[in-house]
Amino acid sequence: MTQTSPDALTRRLKALIESEGPLPVSTYMQLCLHDPKHGYYATRPGLGVDFRTAPETSQVFGELLGVWAAYEWQVMGRPDPCILAELGPGRGTLMADALKATRKVEGFHDAMQLVLVEASPVLRAAQAERLSGHSVHHVAGLGDVPGGPAIFIANEFLDCLPARQFVRADGGWFERKVSTGPDGKLCFGLSADRPPSEIASSIEEEIEFQPGLQRVVEVLAERRDPLRALFIDYGTDGSGPGDTLRAYRSGQQVHPLEAPGACDLTVDVDFARLSRLASAARLDVAGPIGQGMFLGQLGIEARMQALIRKAPESADAIYEGVRELVEPDRMGQRFKAMCLSSPSLPAPVGF
Ligand code: SAH
Repeated sequence: MTQTSPDALTRRLKALIESEGPLPVSTYMQLCLHDPKHGYYATRPGLGVDFRTAPETSQVFGELLGVWAAYEWQVMGRPDPCILAELGPGRGTLMADALKATRKVEGFHDAMQLVLVEASPVLRAAQAERLSGHSVHHVAGLGDVPGGPAIFIANEFLDCLPARQFVRADGGWFERKVSTGPDGKLCFGLSADRPPSEIASSIEEEIEFQPGLQRVVEVLAERRDPLRALFIDYGTDGSGPGDTLRAYRSGQQVHPLEAPGACDLTVDVDFARLSRLASAARLDVAGPIGQGMFLGQLGIEARMQALIRKAPESADAIYEGVRELVEPDRMGQRFKAMCLSSPSLPAPVGF
């Protein structure tokens, strides 16, 4: 409910509410994360500070995803050239580890055209530096990725796509919106606007709805050449997630309206909906399965043992990182993997 010192973005949000009325949660998320001047990703690439992702937890994560991509490239018939596109590459760690682990796969690096889909200029610079030995091409959105056979990888990308929230009350639907309270602070309220048709027929009491998931599926389905798209993120595969909007600052969860632009904002991904949308668009769907199981099937145990043999002095750290990724009560179950593929391809490995 509260926000302490009014900063530039808070002032802008209030002015916008004043002129346009209360803002859908998706508009609030969009401005907080992506405003080019004051947004979170534009001003403070807080990865590793505000939250820690799988590739930042253990190198094994990026290595196994690289091996997965190289294997699937062979299954696709070794297309050359082939796009290897990462969505939301953060600091570039996943891609750096993936490339390192696959440098001996004959022909793979030569065939790959690396494309990084990244909205933040600050993170683009960090990625270019991290991947300085490789030729990478940055684009702003998924729709800007060039055509041709392609492998997409996205870790913790979908959870930052802005979400709208709807609540059922008094026999109708209300949208949760961000408004200004009598005390002048940002607050949540409900507004009786008509929901999108996909929601109107739902039996849930509360729904979170990421319009961007539909867009992601559309862009993939419109591509003419064979593709695999691997998404890893936290989320549900049962009923819709309800209200899961969370804000993180310096590793602590804070109220989502507390410090606009200064915290990471995120929601759970509704994998069941992603699966429905993808099937309806004639993409094949594998998963979702828990991250622990997925990495297990890609051989995380053997990879860990090999690393420990090479660097026995780091055995504890290597083991601890891998446990974090796979244990069911840590990231292993809450994080899920799903692969969307063009229908001409066999089922992907790991599922
Ligand atoms: N994949 C990385 C970083 C995850 S953070 C990791 O696992 O460490 C989310 C990333 O997605 C950031 O790089 C952020 O700038 C980017 N991002 C979020 N929304 C985006 C959008 N709509 N378009 C392009 N990039 C986006």
